[in-house]
Amino acid sequence: MNDTVDEIGHVLRDEGIDADYTKQGFLSLARSSAQVSRARAAVRASEAFGLPNQWRLMDGREATALVAAEGCVGALYTDHCAVVHPGRLVRGLARVVEALGACIYERTPATSFSKNNITTPGGSVRAPVVVRATEGFTTQFKEYRRALIPLYSLVLATEPLSERLRTELNLNHRMAFNDMRHLRVYAQVTADGRLVFGGRGAPYHFGSKVSSQYDLVDDVHEKIQATMTEFFPALSGVRVTHRWGCALAVPRDWHPSVGLDRKTGVAWAGQYVGDGVATSNLAGRILRNLILLRDEEINHLPIVNHRSPQWEPEPFRWLGVNLGHYAAGIGDAEERLAKRPSRVAGVLESLTGAH
Ligand SMILES: Cc1cc2nc3c(=O)[nH]c(=O)nc-3n(C[C@H](O)[C@H](O)[C@H](O)COP(=O)(O)OP(=O)(O)OC[C@H]3O[C@@H](n4cnc5c(N)ncnc54)[C@H](O)[C@@H]3O)c2cc1C
Repeated sequence: MNDTVDEIGHVLRDEGIDADYTKQGFLSLARSSAQVSRARAAVRASEAFGLPNQWRLMDGREATALVAAEGCVGALYTDHCAVVHPGRLVRGLARVVEALGACIYERTPATSFSKNNITTPGGSVRAPVVVRATEGFTTQFKEYRRALIPLYSLVLATEPLSERLRTELNLNHRMAFNDMRHLRVYAQVTADGRLVFGGRGAPYHFGSKVSSQYDLVDDVHEKIQATMTEFFPALSGVRVTHRWGCALAVPRDWHPSVGLDRKTGVAWAGQYVGDGVATSNLAGRILRNLILLRDEEINHLPIVNHRSPQWEPEPFRWLGVNLGHYAAGIGDAEERLAKRPSRVAGVLESLTGAH
């Protein structure tokens, strides 16, 4: 995964795709004592996994000098992160694969697929290998209804911030950042100086339903904006110019998977939760190797042919996932007051497999 961040940079450079890519690392701020405990636990976990240099622990002063969010008492930093304009990335890649001879058919939904065959409203397509890469939309196919849940992540962008404001908030760089709360948030400054700030917290919809109307939810976007101004009170008068969102695919064990079933000819890649920009590149290269029978070291990573357990049937799925969300919010509130990590959030998150 660390190497994949550089691989994307090399592809963009070699193919002449301008996607505002820059690799300036990632800072996960600790804004309470409980978050500092989690930062320390993350460092210990990386060391135990065999990556002692993955994260660097910082104190509050060092962290605030990088991102002047309110109440920083520490942070974790890693070099292994880049930011990119995802729309430019995907359009640039599309141009490259079309120039290589591939055809991309937009507005052509697959209504079902089976061995060597995909059915669409306009007709059938036959192929030796069918790749399912439908991520958060996968639950539309009835045989995958319990394989994943679509979890909505919503995000906003401010108007370009003035030079003065960016200097005051130590935001005149393009390092990605968040804090270590349970209910995930994420942020970066774009090439044109806007702050992009997003988070989870949108409800899970019964029966794993997906719909474009769930991409824009006023009260969730308002909560995200409130969290942004809680990080940076100086942004309270700044205009939000863009809001959007979509579903992430979450498997029961929060573990990505890529593979090919040679008996059925069906390959798959996905369930990246919120980390799919780099993981989809890695999964794409693994799929190429599996389909073309090329042996490379990446073919033996634990994500290859990984099988996740199914989610519970409804209504338990709806109850569990939304309760997990609620507990994460309560846990964050509790941790702002208490000095230790929230037990409620810990127990409920472990029941839904979240980490
Ligand atoms: C708001 C938000 C913020 C995110 N932030 C980050 C981040 O900071 N870092 C990160 O790494 N990841 C992030 N992600 C996750 C990342 O965007 C995804 O993991 C990544 O896009 C997955 O790529 P993909 O090509 O597998 O799937 P997608 O990009 O989801 O593409 C799936 C495609 O399948 C198509 N499709 C669906 N159903 C059908 C059908 N029946 N027939 C035909 N086509 C179909 C869809 O139209 C879509 O084009 C974020 C996601 C969201 C929503």
